[in-house]
Amino acid sequence: METCFKVKDLNLYYGEKQALKKIQMNIYKNKVTAFIGPSGCGKSTFLRCLNRMNDLIEGCKIDGLIDKDGIDIYSSKTDIVDLRTKVGMVFQKPNPFPMSIFDNVAYGPRCQGLKDKKKLDEIVVKSLKQAALYDEVSDRLHESALGLSGGQQQRLCIARCIAMEPEVILMDEPTSALDPIATAKIEELIEQLKEKYTIIIVTHSMQQASRISDYTAFFLLGEVIEFDNTKTIFSTPTDKRTEDYITGRFG
Ligand code: ADP
Ligand code: MG
Repeated sequence: METCFKVKDLNLYYGEKQALKKIQMNIYKNKVTAFIGPSGCGKSTFLRCLNRMNDLIEGCKIDGLIDKDGIDIYSSKTDIVDLRTKVGMVFQKPNPFPMSIFDNVAYGPRCQGLKDKKKLDEIVVKSLKQAALYDEVSDRLHESALGLSGGQQQRLCIARCIAMEPEVILMDEPTSALDPIATAKIEELIEQLKEKYTIIIVTHSMQQASRISDYTAFFLLGEVIEFDNTKTIFSTPTDKRTEDYITGRFG
């Protein structure tokens, strides 16, 4: 199995406060990895480490190693713009830009300098198809993205991410603002996307983690308590704290 990220002894501090403690984890290519754990245990913080989004937070310090393709992503050799292109991100609340559906998806490629109209058309259509949105919007590509439903907006954000041809898609509670039907559509989509991409998803829903992920990491107070096959985590966890959490005894 191919590894996408190898994380070793990763510590992260917000000022004096340590938010991640000695994280060790391998994240595998073309798999879905879920991060679960109670609120405030560091799931989003760790997710943001993987495309260096924490660089934007003042007072945030990191040590340890995150290896991607043989290079420490925190070394000076890493081109951050390139890293964030390869490691795209989808947020909790759908955040389409206030522009047309087409322009949302074309935004990234245009920023990279692509002007060829035919090429842009191709990318937009292909990305919307991959995000399982095309059929619902093909007759209104030039209307505002803000007119879409919440679930459609989130799939548009996934299409916008796909248009950059990433290797990895990070998703931070991507369905927590959505109703059950829209959630089911995104879950189905994630299942399809893993053929092409490595997916890492933070979810507060253990049902969701067990439905859609191949691997699960259980976080508690900034530590990874247990990381394993999702089936193992939910059937025969090794650590008592994992068992207590998945059986609903806390959190
Ligand atoms: P989770 O996503 O598991 O709910 P977070 O990663 O958001 O947890 O937060 C982990 C810890 O780091 C929490 O104690 C939170 O208050 C703290 N934290 C998160 N973001 C920041 C920040 N920008 N500045 C300072 N502390 C933060
Ligand atoms: Mg979070």
